[in-house]
Amino acid sequence: MPMQSASQHLSMPTRLSPLISRHVAVVGAGAGGLVAARELRREGHRVVVFERNDQVGGMWVYTSKVESDPLGLDPNRAVVPSSLYDSLRTNLPRECMGFRDFPFVIRDGKGRDPRRFPSHTEVLMYLQDFATEFGIAELVRFETQVVFVGLEEDGKWNVKSKSRGGVGVDEIYDAVVVCNGHYTEPRLADIPGINIWPGKQMHSHNYRIPDPFKDQVVILIGSAASAVDISRDIAGVAKEVHVAARSVGSYTLGKQPGHDNLWLHSMISCVHKDGRVVFEDGSVVHADFILHCTGYKYHFPFLETNGALVVDDNCVGPLYKHVFPPALAPGLSFVGIPWKVVPFPMFELQSKWIAGALSNRIALPSKEEMMKDVKAFYLSLGACGIPKRYTHRMGASQYEYNDWIAAQCECAAYQEWKKQMHFVTSKRKVERPETYRDKWEDNDLVLQAQEDFKKYMV
Ligand code: FAD
Repeated sequence: MPMQSASQHLSMPTRLSPLISRHVAVVGAGAGGLVAARELRREGHRVVVFERNDQVGGMWVYTSKVESDPLGLDPNRAVVPSSLYDSLRTNLPRECMGFRDFPFVIRDGKGRDPRRFPSHTEVLMYLQDFATEFGIAELVRFETQVVFVGLEEDGKWNVKSKSRGGVGVDEIYDAVVVCNGHYTEPRLADIPGINIWPGKQMHSHNYRIPDPFKDQVVILIGSAASAVDISRDIAGVAKEVHVAARSVGSYTLGKQPGHDNLWLHSMISCVHKDGRVVFEDGSVVHADFILHCTGYKYHFPFLETNGALVVDDNCVGPLYKHVFPPALAPGLSFVGIPWKVVPFPMFELQSKWIAGALSNRIALPSKEEMMKDVKAFYLSLGACGIPKRYTHRMGASQYEYNDWIAAQCECAAYQEWKKQMHFVTSKRKVERPETYRDKWEDNDLVLQAQEDFKKYMV
């Protein structure tokens, strides 16, 4: 995936003066919203964080609750904000995951998980610790949902919110930072015949525990981290699990090593009224259940930009460097849009950039220059044959992206050990999906990480 291509030609930030303190609304108190709030306040802005849940942590707040529509298609369903399953452990080592100056180190205490790839509860506790350390909770209006964000004629932002009791508040802010996450609106694969297929279906957003799959023949669609985890979780109780994957990487199709009841197939070509599922490789399975681990859609139901920003085929655009819509910058910005990334450190850098741009400490290019950069980026994606829905997918290009933002903020570049650790972990995950969390060879990188953390642990 190419970096946004014109980046190299845009000049380094220039300081503007005087610095301005703005009144900023942050939507969401997940990892993105928490670090955005911290950076905005550090920069001298006045911050209000809106959070519809009753606590910080976003998707790391586990709930056994699921939605009324297991596929998540009903627009009137009550949205459950978490997509965690009970057995989830991180797919990144804790050394990589944390914010730069608040490392995700092992802490003593009740319920803490010292493992290198800990459970979801440990991540939630880490985010709670972060919020406490930097006094973020006092900025948050809990149980308050943002229902409308729109631009006023004078360039300010109208934010309408509703608290759980139904009380509505209508306010004006100088800027809005959107950190609402993108793991609640399920995306489904297009499968010929699915409307007449008689079995049960669910999206992984509503997967919590394997029990509903006991003794069932299950087809699981997807090849990302959650598909790998959930297929193993279910294989412990199901009669058969058949994974249908578009991109199978270095895995071999057929029966998977270490399991008697787990198979990998190519994608589904069609399904039938009699329960048959036919794969592109010609194999056929009579299945009871299809579990869609097919990802999520970006969704901003509260945002009214009069067409300045649209979501089309999962591309949010136009967005300069995945953060600022050129026509509305810096008043409107987004933290956390890119995927296939190490999220928290990237959120931290994006937040520093937004905070600095809002105070006038960091200059953004003109709207025309930003738009030119976005167009050049889209052209470079097209030239590489990358589909639109992968606009925000980063992978290896995230390091260049992070370093570019760090340079804008005049802060240290991404740590070399972190890049290497992420690289070797990703490789190990593909090669050894069953054991990558508990067996590793990168102890030298762990030592480098621990040395680095000493700077922040006084
Ligand atoms: P969220 O955590 O989703 O937070 C968004 C917040 O906004 C929520 O609290 C929500 O209630 C609130 N909100 C939304 N709309 C509104 C509104 N209108 N008004 C008020 N509040 C609103 N990352 C890792 O680093 N390591 C991992 O191992 C890892 N594993 C993952 C496993 C799964 C299954 C998934 C889905 C993701 C995983 N991730 C992992 C990525 C994870 O998404 C990020 O780590 C990060 O937590 C996302 O934070 P966020 O703040 O962008 O979004």
